[in-house]
Amino acid sequence: MRLRNVTGSREMIAESEYVVHEPELIKGKWQEEFGNENPIRLEIGMGKGRFLMELARRNPQINYIGIEKYSTVLLRAVQKMEQDPLPNIRLIRMDAEYITDIFSEGEIDRIYLNFSDPWPKDRHAARRLPSRQFLARYDQILKKDGMIEFKTDNTELFVFAEEEIEDSGWKLLQITHDLHADEEMRKDNVMTEYEERFSSMGNPIHKYIIQKI
Ligand code: SAM
Repeated sequence: MRLRNVTGSREMIAESEYVVHEPELIKGKWQEEFGNENPIRLEIGMGKGRFLMELARRNPQINYIGIEKYSTVLLRAVQKMEQDPLPNIRLIRMDAEYITDIFSEGEIDRIYLNFSDPWPKDRHAARRLPSRQFLARYDQILKKDGMIEFKTDNTELFVFAEEEIEDSGWKLLQITHDLHADEEMRKDNVMTEYEERFSSMGNPIHKYIIQKI
């Protein structure tokens, strides 16, 4: 995601009450952090937060955590949260590679991956968020029967992601190669920033939902 470097974004994030600054200290205690026993769902690579905020608005009985690597991007979500505070959202600036440092086994109910960076070179395959290396990390933090929902317009990345789930201990629940034309799967679809941009260019959206077994 390209954005102008926003001066002071780290400082603004440091001051935000919506950002959890030392998430490793909350490992195993996320429900305490939210002050309820509601399920916790994660979006990894949340960008500017449109998807996460809309889900949080629609589902006040679910807690949401957004993870984003870059402070310049996260800042956009922080600014939106300042204008429209949602008690069931927390934000974390971090690389998802270290996700098992901040969540305990079974602490997470569902993970969303939306329009993840493709990392097209083979030698970077392990950096792709739906890679087997990341699936192994998600497996550690998801509860039994927990799910991953992944969508992208990038066909190469999606084919790769499908191959990664074969023989991997995940059950494929639903799949489509044209989400917006799929009667069943588009029902509760919440558009992301990238989804709006690429679908308006005519790109079909691939999506799968897989479950931990
Ligand atoms: N999900 C948003 C959407 O669909 O509009 C943003 C998509 S953008 C292509 C991918 C986002 O994932 C970027 O903001 C990027 O910084 C973030 N990202 C990529 N790899 C990440 C990682 N390992 N940990 C956390 N965030 C990551």
